[in-house]
Amino acid sequence: MKIDIASKISSGVSRVKAYTPGEQPDTSDWVKLNTNEFPFPPSPKVKEAIMAEIGDDGASLRLYPNPESSKLREAIAKHFGVSREYAFAANGSDDILNLAIRAFCDKSKTVVTLEPSYSLYPVLAKLQDTELLSIPFNADMSIPFEKINNSGANIFFFVNPNAPTGIGFGEEVVRKIVENFNGIVLVDEAYSPFAGWSAAKLVEEYNNLIVTGTSSKGWGLAGMRIGWGLANPMVLEVLDRVRDSYNLDRLAQVAGVAALNDNAYYAEKLQLVLQERENIERYFDSLGWRYFKSSANFVLFTPKTKDGKEGVDVAKSLFEHLRKNKILLRYFPNEASINMSIRLSIGTQEQMLKFVDATNQWINL
Ligand SMILES: *Cc1c(COP(=O)(O)O)cnc(C)c1O
Repeated sequence: MKIDIASKISSGVSRVKAYTPGEQPDTSDWVKLNTNEFPFPPSPKVKEAIMAEIGDDGASLRLYPNPESSKLREAIAKHFGVSREYAFAANGSDDILNLAIRAFCDKSKTVVTLEPSYSLYPVLAKLQDTELLSIPFNADMSIPFEKINNSGANIFFFVNPNAPTGIGFGEEVVRKIVENFNGIVLVDEAYSPFAGWSAAKLVEEYNNLIVTGTSSKGWGLAGMRIGWGLANPMVLEVLDRVRDSYNLDRLAQVAGVAALNDNAYYAEKLQLVLQERENIERYFDSLGWRYFKSSANFVLFTPKTKDGKEGVDVAKSLFEHLRKNKILLRYFPNEASINMSIRLSIGTQEQMLKFVDATNQWINL
């Protein structure tokens, strides 16, 4: 039989276009500053742990992994200073975002988020056939608390520090949200290592808070797909119902434990990233370009021509000039609130110097 496949697709999925991740070029000759990966390798302990798990002949791979990722959950809890039953491990933090939508949303239980924020949320909402209400930040980039509280949504996805602006909010803001929102608040902390602060401990106080994190940005392990969530055990029990029974493979579990246990290594590398972030903000100051002061490992900036012009075409021109020079950044031509801006991931000193050289060249074209 030959059937009409399109007519067989579920109603949520039929309306979805697949999420477009940042470009992942095949060759390594790019200066890759487009998807906010950590610019340094992971702790050497990670490789040791993976090699030990594989052993001489890989025999351990024959067996299913621990279904709860128990040791990784312990390492997550220890790292964030909460007790063990508050920690959950997932196949990247995108996995938890997906689980949270599946667990807490349907046609009448909707999602609210801020605009701009992580562009995966609308895709996940559509797949679940739930409505996503996107509320713009106030003009001064503060949070419109009232509008969020009055949205009637069941879950609020709050990226902190925000992506793609990099703006970070502190503990009082998170408490104010969690105390007043009549639903689940998911704080997506993919970038919290660069803010030097996490809301993780607050999950012991508030049963409507989920804090998610990832080894992809702050631990140099985007290639391993290790994410986590911290929340009240009753919330985690719900996520456990929804997840794959073996959602993290053996290598990811041991890699995650090794990374989370090596704070000394990461503290040192983190300082280098923060120093480059500071340097690049001074560079944009020197050019008189606008940018959001960043609490993350990227900066969203608005380029200007020599005669002071900003615009969609100006951003496009710099983006393409850099691309020609094998320097890859991310820009968002289809998002009206930020289409004059470009997002630069913070790389090594060498990578940042290449960016500065090519940008100076563009200014003087
Ligand atoms: C990168 C990113 C994620 C995804 O992290 P993974 O663990 O790699 O899936 C989630 N949220 C935000 C805001 C991100 O920028």
